[in-house]
Amino acid sequence: MKILKGAEVSAKIREQVQEDLKKLQEKRSGFVPKLAIVRVGENPDDMSYERGAIKKMENFGLQAQSYEFPENISHEEFWAGFQKINQDPGVTGILLLKPLPKQIQEKEIDQLILPEKDLDGISPTNMAKVFMGDGTGFAPCTAEAVVWMLKENQIPIAGKRVVIVGRSLIVGKPLAMLMMKENGTVTVCHTKTADLPGTCRQAEILVAAAGRPELLNDDYVGDEAVVIDVGIHVREDGKLCGDVDFDSIQEKAFAATPVPGGVGTVTTAVLAKHLVQAGLLLHR
Ligand code: NAD
Repeated sequence: MKILKGAEVSAKIREQVQEDLKKLQEKRSGFVPKLAIVRVGENPDDMSYERGAIKKMENFGLQAQSYEFPENISHEEFWAGFQKINQDPGVTGILLLKPLPKQIQEKEIDQLILPEKDLDGISPTNMAKVFMGDGTGFAPCTAEAVVWMLKENQIPIAGKRVVIVGRSLIVGKPLAMLMMKENGTVTVCHTKTADLPGTCRQAEILVAAAGRPELLNDDYVGDEAVVIDVGIHVREDGKLCGDVDFDSIQEKAFAATPVPGGVGTVTTAVLAKHLVQAGLLLHR
């Protein structure tokens, strides 16, 4: 089985980021786009993602700053704090770490974020653009990362049977749209899918985005399938794993992404790419 490593795809995206940054700096000398990472509370997974994202932005020659809010902040206070960041001309793009605590009405924040700063495609405008196949907006970084992973590894999507396990707004649904745009024949599975293993076995490209550690084993993988694992979990032994039981599929799959070192690495590279694109939008 071929292992599809995120680092190689990320390096390719980095080249594009450097080119776009050069273009941007020709328009506005010395300008370095800045990412605002907005976090409510101190969830260790969020904090670890945040550290990784900041490191990646710096590594790509970009700026990043985290904005923290207390777990018990009221909706109104958070709304006002978020709007300040949204309106700050020094902030080029925003990543809001989710889920937010229950007292905050997430939908209102999704509607508040300026589409041109909405790097992870949570605003209705960007979502509609993904739905319409209009590439001028921002798609959620993880969904876009899956497409990058396949394309950079010369894995054709057009005409292929694509099965996505997971229908969340941030991964499964937008990815279904992006895969359709690439002319894949898409099936989306969820908790109510009858015969999940049988449906998954039909896939020529299987994407695991269920948020369930090692849910998909060799029984879910058809011969010579390409398996893309979006899941990230910390196992009881402290090691990271995905939604796929990586060891069990070795003999069956044609190729698969590892966790860590797979889709997650590409996701932060896509975030950097979106940040520079947001800079270009700002200085058209
Ligand atoms: P989510 O919990 O919002 O959605 C999970 C989806 O999977 C739901 O639609 C649900 O119906 C489906 N599902 C759950 N259990 C299932 C089962 N047993 N059988 C079939 N379908 C099932 O999760 P999400 O935000 O979409 O994230 C999915 C995974 O991807 C998580 O592990 C998350 O940590 C990871 N993630 C990774 C990145 C990255 O950069 N690699 C980014 C975002 C999320």
